[in-house]
Amino acid sequence: MIPVRGLEGARVAVLGLGRSGLVAARALDAGGAIPVCWDDNPDARARAEAEGFACADLKRGGAFDDIARLIVSPGIPHLYPTPNPVVAAALSAGVPVDNDIGLFFQSFATAAWNDFDTAPRVIAVTGSNGKSTTSALIHHIMDVAGRPSQLAGNIGRGVLDIDPPHDGEVVVLELSSYQTDLARSLTPDVAVFTNLTPDHLDRHDGMGGYFAAKRRLFAEGGPDRAVIGVDEKEGRFLAGQLVEAPGDDRVIRVSVEAKLTGPGWNVFARKGYLAETRKGRQVASIDLREVAGLPGSHNHQNACAAYAAARSVGIAPKVIEQAFHSFGGLPHRSQLIAEAGGVRYVNDSKATNVDSAAKALAAFENIHWICGGLQKDGGLDVVKAAAGSVKAAYVIGREAAQFAMQLDGPAHVCTTMAAAVEAAMAAAEPGDVVLLAPAAASFDQYDSFERRGEDFVAEVTKRL
Ligand code: ADP
Repeated sequence: MIPVRGLEGARVAVLGLGRSGLVAARALDAGGAIPVCWDDNPDARARAEAEGFACADLKRGGAFDDIARLIVSPGIPHLYPTPNPVVAAALSAGVPVDNDIGLFFQSFATAAWNDFDTAPRVIAVTGSNGKSTTSALIHHIMDVAGRPSQLAGNIGRGVLDIDPPHDGEVVVLELSSYQTDLARSLTPDVAVFTNLTPDHLDRHDGMGGYFAAKRRLFAEGGPDRAVIGVDEKEGRFLAGQLVEAPGDDRVIRVSVEAKLTGPGWNVFARKGYLAETRKGRQVASIDLREVAGLPGSHNHQNACAAYAAARSVGIAPKVIEQAFHSFGGLPHRSQLIAEAGGVRYVNDSKATNVDSAAKALAAFENIHWICGGLQKDGGLDVVKAAAGSVKAAYVIGREAAQFAMQLDGPAHVCTTMAAAVEAAMAAAEPGDVVLLAPAAASFDQYDSFERRGEDFVAEVTKRL
């Protein structure tokens, strides 16, 4: 637990009592603030009250009269499409709105650090895709390097739930755009931007707002080192804004599309090889082709970003290479779950948008593609362009027929996971891959992408 500093004796409202809200209430309490909690769901309030926290309806008039700050959970809209009424009331009352990430950064450093040889550092990872994989990989590299490290944010523990850091510790935070948009304090030592493709546009009023939310991590935080994926125009723009001269090595550029030749600090992957260059010279290279836990060019992008972040905190290339080979990958992200009769079964249930599904499709050949679900705005063009290695699609979801109609090539309307797995397995030949990469959200049939992935694994496993 990181007790919240700077709000001692103050009444702090906490809106949303899920995992991060409850942890925030505990950390506020531990730091001497007085949390005033609310969640529209009575069960969530009951859980908070059972822990001894006071709940008060923050929607009633005057609720913010004596409140120093409002802490909002990431699932609650604070601006678009329309602000939650409690957030609107706080802003009308002139009360600052913040989140657990802001509280974390304002509270992390303590006087105890004066006795440390090396101050703890925070590596924060944001971007549209690859955040979890990159964050988990950085954490794994730290483990292999023997550095104390904790993983928190969207993955691992809530940020305020981590243990007070040790001498030389590296805290790796995965941060979503909702989190970077709202946090009042945002000061990582190393900030990583993996890539940018349209997602969550309703919450940011379009692409500009989405990019602006992510950019705050670099613009407001002033990190010592920024690792930036430059394969999209936004990344190139951001990198350009942060450097003072072309050779400025506060920015490490990352690419899986271009050989980066600039005079600065670069990490790129081409034809399966990662290369690090500085001042125009290659300083290290790693063969990624045999790294089983990081298949496909999208994972090579994650590998480059994690490599650059690890280099920023002084880890040697050889150690990073060793860590790549022992990285098992994360569940539901290009995860090889079984191999039988020459057919590989891969679970990428996390491919909830067309871009991540396109990356998964590009990583394999001879694919029997299980896709569909709650379709997102923007159409399927991106994923269709990547479907060249697809032998047939097996479409799930309540709107399976409509989804299937938008695809080129053979597409079977299966609706359920069981039917899709059955049909894909019957058709698959040795050398083929049965890949779940839905290109859609799961909520029409499942509580979460994890449940969807587990269902796929179960349906495959029982037929093997
Ligand atoms: P995030 O935490 O940003 O959602 P994950 O690592 O959980 O990222 O991966 C989410 C999905 O995106 C998975 O389907 C995965 O295969 C795909 N993916 C992973 N890394 C990348 C990347 N660098 N670019 C595009 N897609 C990716």
